[in-house]
Amino acid sequence: MADVRNVIIIGSGPAGYTAGLYTARAMLEPLMFAGYASGGQLMLTSDVENFPGYPEGIAGPEMMLDLRKQAERFGLEVEDKNVEKVDFSSRPFKITVEGEEHLAKAVIITTGADAIWLDAEGEQEQKGKGVSTCATCDGFFFREQEVIVVGGGDSAMEEAHFLTRFASKVTVVHRREYFRASRTMYDRVAAHPKIEIALHRQVKRWLSDESGLSGAILEDPRDGSEHEISCTGAFIAIGHKPNTPFLEGQVETDDSGYIIHSEHTMTSIPGVFAAGDVVDTRYRQAITAAGMGCQAAIDAEKWLEDN
Ligand SMILES: Cc1cc2nc3c(=O)[nH]c(=O)nc-3n(C[C@H](O)[C@H](O)[C@H](O)COP(=O)(O)OP(=O)(O)OC[C@H]3O[C@@H](n4cnc5c(N)ncnc54)[C@H](O)[C@@H]3O)c2cc1C
Repeated sequence: MADVRNVIIIGSGPAGYTAGLYTARAMLEPLMFAGYASGGQLMLTSDVENFPGYPEGIAGPEMMLDLRKQAERFGLEVEDKNVEKVDFSSRPFKITVEGEEHLAKAVIITTGADAIWLDAEGEQEQKGKGVSTCATCDGFFFREQEVIVVGGGDSAMEEAHFLTRFASKVTVVHRREYFRASRTMYDRVAAHPKIEIALHRQVKRWLSDESGLSGAILEDPRDGSEHEISCTGAFIAIGHKPNTPFLEGQVETDDSGYIIHSEHTMTSIPGVFAAGDVVDTRYRQAITAAGMGCQAAIDAEKWLEDN
C-alpha cells in the first residue's frame, strides 16, 4: 500500500508550481505529477513581459524553470508523469499514474486548458512567435504591424478589437459566411476603421521569411481557391479545451469541461481543489493562474487542518 500524501498536485503550470511552493512552505511535503509536457502553456512562448518581477521580460520556458526550482527548494517533489485517472469516491483519494495507485488526503488540480490551434502547414515553427493564441499576452509585440485574427465567435471579436490598439490593420479571417459572435460584438468589430473581414477563408499554410511570419495562404473552403494575405502576426481564437477528461466526471464541471468551484477554490468534492485555467474561462493569464494556485494551497492547508 502506498504512503498517504498530504497533498498531491496534478499539473505543472504557474498554478501548479505556485500551489507547490505554498504547500511545501507549509510543511505539507507535496507531491506533484507535472505531466509529460511539464511547465504548461508558457513552454510554448518566447517572451513573457507581463509577469511581475521580470523587468526585462523573460522567455516562457525559463520562467517555468524558475518557478519549478523555487518550489523544489522548499521540498516540492515533482514527477514528470501524467495522471491517468482518479477516484475521489472515498478518502484517501486515489490517483493512478502509469498504472500505479497513489493516495492523498487532499488534491489540487491545475491541469490548465489548452488553446486550440489550427495545425496549418508551418504552424509548429511559428507557435508562440508570429502565431499566438493570446492577444492580451502578445498584442503588444505587433505595434504598427498588420495582423490577422482567425475565428468567428465572441473571443475572436474581442481579440480583434483589442488588437486595434497596437496593429495598423487587423483582418478577421472566418471560414463561414455567418458569425457565431453576438450581434453587438460583431457590429463593433465590423464598424472599426482598422478592421477588415475576410469571409469564406481558412488558413492553409503560414508563410515566413528570415524575420519571422510574413503572411498566410488562405483557402476558400467552397472551391479550394487560394489567396495570399500578408501579416507579421496572427492570433488564433477558436477556443480552449480544459484538460479534464482524465477526471471522468468525478468533480462537477460546466458543459465545456471546466471545473466549477463550490466554495473558494474547493470543487464539488471536499478536499479536492482546483486552480488556474482549468477553472478560468475569463482571465487565462499566468499571474491569475499563479494567484489562484496560492489560494488553492491555502484552502487545502486549512481544510487539512480542520479535517
Ligand atoms: C502561446 C501562448 C502565449 C502565452 N503568453 C502569455 C503571457 O505572455 N503572459 C501570460 O500571463 N499568459 C500567457 N499565456 C497564457 C498562460 O500560459 C496561461 O494562462 C497559464 O499557463 C495557465 O496556467 P495553468 O497553471 O492554469 O495551466 P497550464 O500552464 O496550461 O499548465 C497545465 C499543466 O498541466 C499538465 N497536465 C495536463 N493534464 C495532466 C494530467 N492528466 N496529469 C498531469 N499533468 C497534466 C500539462 O502538461 C501542463 O503542464 C500564453 C499562452 C499561450 C498558449
